[in-house]
This record gives sequence, C-alpha cells and structure tokens, in this order.
Amino acid sequence: MPLIEEVAKISFERVGSHSHIKGLGLDESGKAKFMADGMVGQVKAREAAGIAVELIKKGKFAGKGILLVGPTGSGKTAIAMGIAKELGEDVPFVQIAGSEIYSAEMKKTEFLKQALRRAIGVRISEEKKVYEGALEKIEIRRTKHPFNPYVEIPESALITLKTKDDKKTIKVGREIAYQLLEGGIEEGDVIQIDAETGRVSKIGTVKEEEGLFLKRKVNLPSGPVLKIKEFTYTVTLHDLDVVNARSGGIFSLFFGGGMEINDDIRQRVDEAVKGWVEEGKAILVPGVLFIDECHMLDIEAFSFLARAMEGELAPILILATNRGRTRIRGTDIEAPHGIPIDMLDRLLIINTEPYKRDEVREIVKIRASEEGIEISEDAIEYLAELGEKTSLRYAVQLLAPASVLARGMVEKEHIEKAKEYFADIRRSISFVENLEGMLS
Ligand code: ATP
Repeated sequence: MPLIEEVAKISFERVGSHSHIKGLGLDESGKAKFMADGMVGQVKAREAAGIAVELIKKGKFAGKGILLVGPTGSGKTAIAMGIAKELGEDVPFVQIAGSEIYSAEMKKTEFLKQALRRAIGVRISEEKKVYEGALEKIEIRRTKHPFNPYVEIPESALITLKTKDDKKTIKVGREIAYQLLEGGIEEGDVIQIDAETGRVSKIGTVKEEEGLFLKRKVNLPSGPVLKIKEFTYTVTLHDLDVVNARSGGIFSLFFGGGMEINDDIRQRVDEAVKGWVEEGKAILVPGVLFIDECHMLDIEAFSFLARAMEGELAPILILATNRGRTRIRGTDIEAPHGIPIDMLDRLLIINTEPYKRDEVREIVKIRASEEGIEISEDAIEYLAELGEKTSLRYAVQLLAPASVLARGMVEKEHIEKAKEYFADIRRSISFVENLEGMLS
C-alpha cells in the first residue's frame, strides 16, 4: 500500500481550541483534581468519564456509548477530548456536528462511514534501513537541460554523512537533489536518508546555534552511518481508503475531500490492515467519534450508528446534546434528547453543569497561556465575571481580539473594548429583537 509515511505526517487532526487538554485530570483512585491535565472543574462529569475510560480499557464497553448532556459551552467537547487523550496520545479524535450529515456532496450513511473510519487508527511499526549522521558535505551534480543547453539542472547529489565512528558518502537521485536544494539542509544538520527511497529528513542539528535552533540540537550520532531503525506512525482507516481510492496518491488527501469511497476499497484496506495485524506490523487503535448536537441526527442515522456499534471494528461513540425531550428527526415521535430508545439504552449519560466563576477564571488563564497572550490579573478577573454571566465560550473568545487591541499586555480596558466590538449571544439576540420591535 502506498505512501503510508506521508499519510501519517499530514493526517494529524487539529482541534486548536482544545489543545490544552491532555487528559481528564484524575488521580489514581479516579478522583478529579480541581485542575489537572488542562482540565478545570466539572468534577463529577470528569470522574464519570474516568469510569467509562476504565471500562473501555478493560474491554467492557463493547456496543455501548456515552451521552453528554448539558448546556452549550459547558465543556462537553472538552470532556470528550479528555477521554480520547486518556486512551492514548495517538488515539484519533473525530468531531462532527449532527447537522453535518445533511451534505449535498454525499449520502448520510457515507458521511457517517467516513467519520467512523477516521476515528479508527492503525499504528504501524516498520523496520527501515536508514543512513543517519551529521551532514558534512553536499555535492550537487548537474547536467545540461534536455531542451536548453544553456541551463544546468541537478542530476544527482553526493551526501557525506558522519557519525562518531563512521563516515559515508551516499548518492541520491535527481528528485532528492532538488529536495536538498530547496529543503534548507545545511552542514552540521543531522539527517536521515531512507535507504530504499532516498528520501531525506532533518532530525536535528549539531551546530551551536542560538534561540529556536538550540531546541533541536542533538549529539553527533554514534555507530555506523547505515543502520536499521524502527519507525512507528498512526494513520486512520479513512486515510488509507482515500489514498487507495485515488490514483492521485498523496495529493488526494488535500484535494480529495468530499468524495464517496466505494465499499470495495474499504474491504481491500481492511484486508490489508488485517494482514499487517497478523504479521505483527500493525495494531488497531479505536478512537473516539464525537457527535455534537446529536439531536440533529435522524432516525436513519441513529439506526446506522447503532449497527456500526455492534461491528467488530467500532470506535467509541460519544454523543452530546443540550436538548431535553424533543422530536426524533424523521419521525413524529418525541423522545428524551431526541434519541431513539434502542440507542438510548446503549448510552451512559453524563451531565455537565454551567461553569462557575472560579472555573472560568482558571480556564481563561490556561487558554491565555496556550495562545501566548499576556494578561493582567484584573483582566482575568473581569473575564471570569463576564464568563459566569454570559458563557465560558464568550469569555475565552474575547481573549484574541483583546490581545489585538492591546498589542501587548491585555488589561481590563482592552477586554471592555473587545466586548463593545463583539457581542455575546444574548446581547446579539436582544439587538435583533429590539430592531424588530421598532419596525413592527
Ligand atoms: P460544549 O461542547 O459543551 O459546547 P466546549 O467543550 O466546546 O463546550 P467551550 O464553550 O467551547 O466548551 O469552551 C471554551 C474553551 O474552554 C475551550 O477551549 C475548551 O477547551 C475550554 N474548556 C471547556 N471546559 C473546560 C474544562 N472543564 N477544563 C478546561 N478547559 C475547558
């Protein structure tokens, strides 16, 4: 199967606004610390989530799921993310909203199939022969352009690598020579060259450099230049589907969004993955599929998901809603949270409560530091008060515009300014209602 390594590099799912969450912040006995792993407050919900994680890890959660119920902005997404993180650093976390299934581009079930497969990771280990060492010299060999004799183009490159105990010159082809010319690799950089493909990657530098580069400083490697190394990367079943569905290879990951994938391809991928697992080259890592606003799913979607949960290869399903009793979409039936009873029967329900001022204060602090925003105590206190009155989300959202206004340390006055520019939901609704009142 092609290009797994490239897939691994770019398939990393980014959930920026929850980047500070590293787990559920529980101690050994499963009790939540007020603040740990980037998580603050919401103690009961986090402890409940911790119990679910234990069940998942013991394999006692098959066919079951979690339902998070609480008002908007009460940390449902944050908790779902915490659960994924507790299951492992490279465990996929896929977030969709119930309404996303109604896309014009693909069938509802196709959308859900893709979401489910994005939430299943394949951890692949491979032994590879690589050349590894500090770059002593690059010599680009050139040749005349085939149609323009006045121009010379790279033809190949000779790379001399050094370790504490060895030194070797390796010849690589034209493509890699171009990569070297563009790649910003210099003498003193420690690089790895895949012995099979010739692909070059930089892993550090032995140069004494100031600032940022110092972080990547590594010692001169020891041993022979040519060695066997173990590489591990995690891709998702969906990544593998996409790469195999398109002859465009890796580019299909960038440009192939929104396409339907036929089941033959999925079956082929499954068989290949099964083979890798049997050979001990890969491990399957079920991740989390988080469906926010699950009351927007319709009856068909629910039965599709219920069936999928029965399958031998299913991610952990976490649904979230802020609705009480409501109609199940696609029917006239009212049900708790708009969820059909047979689905509800499978779900452990966890409630999340609105945040209090102390919690908002700490979360705002964490987000400010995560976003690299300097902020005064006064400003934080003001945001905490604001967050309690309006919503945590609004308080967190004001950080970025306030930092633009401040162009430095954010003070209370900058928050006040940002608040004038950007409305919270309640204010925004009453603005429209007042206008309507004036017009009628
Ligand atoms: P919901 O899914 O219930 O609507 P959410 O998890 O999306 O809520 P937001 O209102 O978007 O929460 O939260 C704003 C920010 O606060 C996000 O960066 C989120 O990660 C963070 N956050 C929310 N709850 C917690 C918590 N208990 N601990 C730490 N950070 C939190």
